[in-house]
Amino acid sequence: MSPRRGQSIRRGCGRFMEWAGAHRSLPNIPYRAAILCFHNVIAHRRDPEIEEEALELPQFRRLLRVLRDAFQVISLAELVAAIRERRSPPPRSIVISFDDGYATNHTVVAEELAALGMPWSAFLPAQIIETGARQWTDDLYLLIHRGSLRHLRLPWSDGPTEFDLHTVQQRREALHAIRESCRYLPEGLRRIRLDGIYGLYSQDEIDALRARYPAFAPMTWEQARELKAAGVDVGSHGLTHVALAPQTPQAIRHEITGARDLIQARIGEHSRHFSYPYGRQASISQDTRIILTALGYHCALTLEQSTVDTRTQNLMELPRLIAPPSAGRTLFNLWQRFIR
Ligand SMILES: [Zn+2]
Repeated sequence: MSPRRGQSIRRGCGRFMEWAGAHRSLPNIPYRAAILCFHNVIAHRRDPEIEEEALELPQFRRLLRVLRDAFQVISLAELVAAIRERRSPPPRSIVISFDDGYATNHTVVAEELAALGMPWSAFLPAQIIETGARQWTDDLYLLIHRGSLRHLRLPWSDGPTEFDLHTVQQRREALHAIRESCRYLPEGLRRIRLDGIYGLYSQDEIDALRARYPAFAPMTWEQARELKAAGVDVGSHGLTHVALAPQTPQAIRHEITGARDLIQARIGEHSRHFSYPYGRQASISQDTRIILTALGYHCALTLEQSTVDTRTQNLMELPRLIAPPSAGRTLFNLWQRFIR
């Protein structure tokens, strides 16, 4: 079965279970909690190809209604305390987290969660907030789908290096191949590859494309300060948003302390909560765990797709469930985790 077919089946199941009120009869599973990881929530999806990974506001609201009715949204600090004390969190506990520091966290998300009194955590990639840069993965969507080139020739030593970009399917495949081949590289090599791609387009074209899609802009420090003042838990998502494990121990330390110092300089003391960029096993190592612990971090969040068992959970490897761009799929995922 194709991944898209699987997604659409899960979305349909999630919607049906929501309609049938499945969430009203979920059992309490002692010691279990789930942490949801969101990224970008946008008011309206104007361009499905570019914004396919962003969650639309009406879907986000549907999801929040179910969380309010059937789950208990607790703060990350509350879950950390339950894990430390090896006790059960409140029944059907959910923690809400947002990675990558998009401005929409401030302009769209904050008000929705505040209205429901739900605590949440925002993890900021410090250098991206500082410079106002875009995530390279978002830029790739713009360049590949809406850029002027219909053929890419990339002088890489491994993997596919030529891509036709005429059809939507070709562009999706090119995006996937380029993202996977850049994601877990040491920073120097990744930079060379990305600069090679950016170099194929004029700066004017890149700027014009970014201006057409403002939802991918990072928040400002002023917005981060406002979130913190409103009681949002603001944590660190590293300095330059690289996968940590492939870097040298010195580079890992620099990523973590550099982010800590910059966030502290701009918004004051922040929580000692960390979220691993990219978050999969390839981003995490013994070095990352040791350095984060030595620097006084209380927990680190991954994207390993699992739930928390507070009796056994390692605080430096908290799993999270990625919230896909559809409320139905997220709900189906939650039903699966809380039915047994
Ligand atoms: Zn990230």
